[in-house]
Amino acid sequence: MDYLEGLNPQQRAAVENTKGPVMIVAGAGSGKTRVITFRVAHLIQTGTDPFNILVLTFTNKASKDMRERISKVVGAEAKNIWMGTFHSVFAKILRVEAEKIGYPSNFTIYDTDDTKSVIRAILKEMQLDDKLYAPNFVYGRISSAKNNLISWGEYQANDQIQAEDIQNKRPLLGQIYETYAKRCFRAGAMDFDDLLFKTNILLKEHPDVLNKYQQKFRYLMVDEYQDTNFSQYTIVKKLAAAYQNICVVGDDAQSIYAFRGANIQNILNFERDYPDLKVYKLEQNYRSTQNIVDAASSIIANNKNQLEKNVFSDNEPGERVKVSRAFTDNEEGKLVAEAIIQERTSKGLHHSDFAILYRTNAQSRAMEEGLRKLNIPYKIFGGQSFYQRKEIKDLIAYFRLTFNPKDEEAIKRVINYPKRGIGDTSVDKIIVAADQHGKTMWEVIANAHMYVDGRLANQLNDFATMVQSFQAEAKKLDAYDAALFIAQHAGILKELYTDDSVEGRSRYENIQELLNGIKEFAEREDIEEKGLEIFMQDVALLTNDDKDGDKNKDSVSLMTIHSSKGLEFKNVFIVGLEENLFPSQMSLTNRTDLEEERRLFYVAITRAEVKLTLTYATSRYRWGTLTNCEPSRFINEINPKFLELDVKPSRSNSIEGSFDDERKTWTSQPRDFFSKPKPAGAGNTTTSTPPVRPKTTSLLAKAHVPTPGFTPSQPHEFQNGMEVEHEKFGFGKIISLEGSLPDVKATVFFQGLGNKQLLLKFAKLMIV
Ligand code: ATP
Ligand code: MG
Repeated sequence: MDYLEGLNPQQRAAVENTKGPVMIVAGAGSGKTRVITFRVAHLIQTGTDPFNILVLTFTNKASKDMRERISKVVGAEAKNIWMGTFHSVFAKILRVEAEKIGYPSNFTIYDTDDTKSVIRAILKEMQLDDKLYAPNFVYGRISSAKNNLISWGEYQANDQIQAEDIQNKRPLLGQIYETYAKRCFRAGAMDFDDLLFKTNILLKEHPDVLNKYQQKFRYLMVDEYQDTNFSQYTIVKKLAAAYQNICVVGDDAQSIYAFRGANIQNILNFERDYPDLKVYKLEQNYRSTQNIVDAASSIIANNKNQLEKNVFSDNEPGERVKVSRAFTDNEEGKLVAEAIIQERTSKGLHHSDFAILYRTNAQSRAMEEGLRKLNIPYKIFGGQSFYQRKEIKDLIAYFRLTFNPKDEEAIKRVINYPKRGIGDTSVDKIIVAADQHGKTMWEVIANAHMYVDGRLANQLNDFATMVQSFQAEAKKLDAYDAALFIAQHAGILKELYTDDSVEGRSRYENIQELLNGIKEFAEREDIEEKGLEIFMQDVALLTNDDKDGDKNKDSVSLMTIHSSKGLEFKNVFIVGLEENLFPSQMSLTNRTDLEEERRLFYVAITRAEVKLTLTYATSRYRWGTLTNCEPSRFINEINPKFLELDVKPSRSNSIEGSFDDERKTWTSQPRDFFSKPKPAGAGNTTTSTPPVRPKTTSLLAKAHVPTPGFTPSQPHEFQNGMEVEHEKFGFGKIISLEGSLPDVKATVFFQGLGNKQLLLKFAKLMIV
């Protein structure tokens, strides 16, 4: 049993104890995922049939990595393990069982966009104000009801929920939920939350089905257990009830999905649910240097709500965590790109040893630009994934329609794309006719002459004939030939080919790329069924996370912190460490949200093995305008012992002025770049945008970062008569200063407001 050698005694005990309930709650990098991986390998090595093992992971990538590792121990048997995310595993089960709960087995999976579009249509029909009933809000409410296993009927019957909605002036949410649920059902569609919600219904209402899967999954393992929601918790509990061979691992300090209904309570409930539970402690972090582990611990210590646990690293102390400042987000991208080149060449690393993590997807643009200019290959995970692009969704909607013509969102998406004279009014006519006669949209379209007249009937007839021809061809051809047939005959290829704008070309290339992916699928040796329908089954669940067709290419990884969970990289950059960005603006008003944000920072830090760099910009474009930014409080919360401050600007010929090493400030004025501002809302990757210097320099912002050997600019640099700017009060002039450091108080005269007294250490004044 060589493979057991690579485990410490605690890990090994958890691996070998395969019977009965087991829980591990331990810090980042302590080998939780490793325990699950080895446990599965061990089960198979000691005679368990891989078909009887179910492993639930948080991302598709995690399950792919795990399967690869397991196959190194057990060989080809590894492919028979049931392993994947909750959504992918239960979508697969629902495909088999859907008819028992009234759905077709070829049900469509509505992604977030489809869901919102259905909600929007319902709001329009009900003539509701979509500011009050904002689609995002409505979606969130329905989603959270489903994740708490509350059906629309229960929602409407629950007095407390009703009272809440009335108090929030949105009394019709229950009715919207009902209409939405019925409409999805009519269209043979499930949204993401339904995949879990309907699984719960299936297991509850069909004891025979429950029994079948209990017998099948005799061993269950769940990674990242702290982020399961109630709906997921209930599924796991039901499936494990017969044999109780369940092992969950997690870390409360890494719980980062409360907004999606994840509930730390699940960890606590676990002890209650299984009284003869065995708990294992893992305390050694094998991933990171001591400096990184200690920096992470010093951050998370600021959270009040957490379970007690120790973490230590026996690795080298390593380099300190570096903090770098840039003047703009573009400059930040440049700085990171330059640092990657420098680190890579001096330490002989691969591009794939580097990751850039950010709080929001929009931040990737500046990073991409910086990397592209220096020809550094990179890969974006998650985010606006390939499958979210309009042209891809259009073609996929044709595929969806081919296999499920009841799919109303797909119909609406493509019935007039490319244009064939069936505009919105015509679509409304179809909907009215469908409602009047109790038919689906497709039934109206396919028998158009019975429901609408004249020209429209002919046009609909042509459309129906086309879709029927797709259905006929798809039965005969493999996935690639069928997809190509549809793309050609639907007119999409021609439409994009004739558009020779830059965007048009890129859309055409994207379609090509999709077809390439389908071709790869059709040529796979390890699967038997290669029809387009099989390819389509999981497309709605795909994100870029899975789309690493080019996985051998050595490239830097870019992703949000949320998608970095469980991963590790030698060299990590966490960018955009600024107040209102990270922590996000929305989290600043209450402790619970701020603590979740801090856990997110903890997750980010603990991804790094050897070197960690934190960066921030002193100005950035947000919502189309240039805003001044100050460093995140999180930098301040790290024990300065573990930090190294590098506030020198990167070499940039676009910024003039010199850096005063003694005072650690910029001394001369920058060139004026404001004459050519970036267009509002620019989220594209044009390269003509000049880097922009902030018009003011935040002295106190710099003072926020405590560092050994660094004397921050002190409030005493302020003088009487100085012109300053305040976030809220605007421009003003310092009238007087009193008190001594660090409690200097300033009286400032603000135009139109008069004198205000401000404590400098809090006021965040900027010298104009
Ligand atoms: P996270 O909380 O971030 O998900 P984790 O607890 O799941 O972390 P793993 O990813 O399993 O931790 O392990 C972190 C790293 O430490 C991995 O590279 C793993 O291979 C390594 N590791 C874990 N245990 C040992 C061990 N006993 N010997 C050597 N390396 C180990
Ligand atoms: Mg893990």
